[in-house]
Amino acid sequence: MQSIPHFINGVRVDAPGELPIHNPATGQVIAQVPVARADVIARALDVSREALTTWRASSLSRRTQVLFALRQLLVQHEDELAAIITREHGKTLADAKGELARGLENVEYACGLSEHLKGDFSDQVADGVDVHSVREPVGVVLAITPFNFPIMVPLWMCANALASGNAVILKPSEKDPSVSVRLGELLREAGLPDGVFQVLHGNATTVEALLEHPGVDAVSFVGSTPIARSVHARATAAGKRVQALGGAKNHMVVLPDADLDVAADAAINAGYGSAGERCMAISVVVAVGDVADALVAKIAERADRLRVGAGDDPTSDFGPLISAEHLARVRGYVTSAPRDAITVVRDGTTIEPSEGYFLGPCLLDHVQPGTPAYDDEIFGPVLSVVRVDNFDEALRLVNANPYGNGVAIFTRDGNAARLFAKRVTVGMIGVNVPIPVPVSAYSFGGWKSSLFGHAHIYGPEGFAFYTRAKVITTRWPQPSETQIDLGFPRTR
Ligand code: NAD
Repeated sequence: MQSIPHFINGVRVDAPGELPIHNPATGQVIAQVPVARADVIARALDVSREALTTWRASSLSRRTQVLFALRQLLVQHEDELAAIITREHGKTLADAKGELARGLENVEYACGLSEHLKGDFSDQVADGVDVHSVREPVGVVLAITPFNFPIMVPLWMCANALASGNAVILKPSEKDPSVSVRLGELLREAGLPDGVFQVLHGNATTVEALLEHPGVDAVSFVGSTPIARSVHARATAAGKRVQALGGAKNHMVVLPDADLDVAADAAINAGYGSAGERCMAISVVVAVGDVADALVAKIAERADRLRVGAGDDPTSDFGPLISAEHLARVRGYVTSAPRDAITVVRDGTTIEPSEGYFLGPCLLDHVQPGTPAYDDEIFGPVLSVVRVDNFDEALRLVNANPYGNGVAIFTRDGNAARLFAKRVTVGMIGVNVPIPVPVSAYSFGGWKSSLFGHAHIYGPEGFAFYTRAKVITTRWPQPSETQIDLGFPRTR
C-alpha cells in the first residue's frame, strides 16, 4: 500500500503509513498517510529555521518571480491537481478546478507583494526627524488545513505567508493530503529554495507537537469550531500569533419580494454543491412571510433533478461525503428529523449505492432552533427551512446563532438589504449572492464561533498577520544641535 511522503527540505521523504486514505466514491482504502512525531518535526523545523534566514532576506522581486512562476505551474497542472483532489476528497472535477481557481486568486494577489509590503514614510515629524515603517516576516508559519478544500485553503495561507518572507510548514488534512505534496514540488519548480515550504502529515498528535514547538512563530488554522477553539487556546498559551477559523451555519434569508426562482437556484447551488461540505455552504433557508410554500416547492423540484455520483463522472452534480462515519452522522439528522416535528420534504437517505459514501439531496421543512438539525453544523447535502413571520424575526434568528461565518439575503429591496448588512453579526454577507467568499483583495473571516483570534485570512489582513511592524525614527543631528535635555522627547 502506497504511503504518502512528507515533503521536507525540497524532497519527498518516505515514512510508514499509519492512517488510511479512502476514495469516498468507492469506499476503498487507496493509500496511507504517516503521522509525524517529535523526531521528524524537530528535523523539519531545523530546516525551516535555516531556510528562513535566506528567504526572509530575499529581494521582493525574487519572491514575486517565484509566485508568478507558481501561478503558471498551477494553471498548467490544473487537470492533474483536480484529479488528485477528486480521488481523495470525492468532489466533482469541475468543483476541484473551481477551488483551484479560487486558490490561484490568492497567488495572483500575492504577486503584488511589493505593493502590499510597502511601508510608510513621514518627513520632518519634528525638526530634523523623519519616521518610516517596515513590515518584516513573522518567522516560521504553521498552516493547518481541513479536508474540504485541500488546495484552496493551503493557498489562502501559503501565498501571502511566503510572499511576506516567511517559511511555512503545512499540516494538511490526513483525509486528502496528496495534493499538498504536489504543491511543494510545484513551489520548488517555481524557484522557491528548499526548506522554505514543507509538508508534514499527521493528525491531532502532530498538531499538538507542532503547537508546542518553540520553532513555530505563527499559526494559521482552518477547520471545525471545537478544534479551532482549542488550537487558538494552545497556540496563544505557547506565545504564538494565531488565527483559527472554525465551522459555520450559514443562513439564506429570503424576503417576500425576492425572485423565488433566483432564490431557489441559489439555495440548490449553495446548499448541495460539493455535497454541502463547504464552510460557506447554505444550510438554513429562512423563508420570510408567505414565501415558504412556494419556495420549498421550487427547491424540491430542482433537488429532484440533481444527480449524485462519482466526482470523475462529468454528469454528477455532486459527489460522495468524505467518510463512512461522516455519512452515518449526516444521515442521522435526516432519519431523526420527524421526532423533532420536522417535515422531511426530500429524503436523500433512500439512495442505496453499491459502494461509496453517497447521500442524495435532503430537504427539511419546519425546522426550529433547539433541534439538532438546526443547532449543529451538519456539513452535508441537507437544507433546512425555517419559517419566520418578518424581517426582524429573520435578523434575530441569524444573530442568535453562535456561528457567524457567512449569510445571504435575497430581496429586490435595497434598503432592506442595507439594513440587514448593517445589523447582522456575521463576517461575510451576500446580497443576492449565496456564497459570498470575498475575492482575494479582501480578507475572509467569520465572527463569533467561526473565528478565534482577530485576524481574518488572506488579502490585506493576511499580509498583516504574516508580518510584524517596525517603526524607525531617524535624526541626523549636527554637532551644534546636540544638548543635554532629560525631558520626555516632544515633537513640538
Ligand atoms: P477538523 O477540525 O476535523 O480538522 C482540521 C485540521 O485539524 C486537520 O488538519 C486535522 O488533522 C487537524 N485536527 C483534527 N483534530 C485535531 C485536534 N484534536 N487537535 C489539533 N488538530 C486537529 O476539520 P475538517 O473535518 O477537516 O474540516 C471541516 C470543518 O472545517 C468544518 O467545520 C468546516 O466548516 C470547517 N471549515 C471552515 C472554513 C472557514 O474558512 N471558516 C473553511 C473550510 C472548512
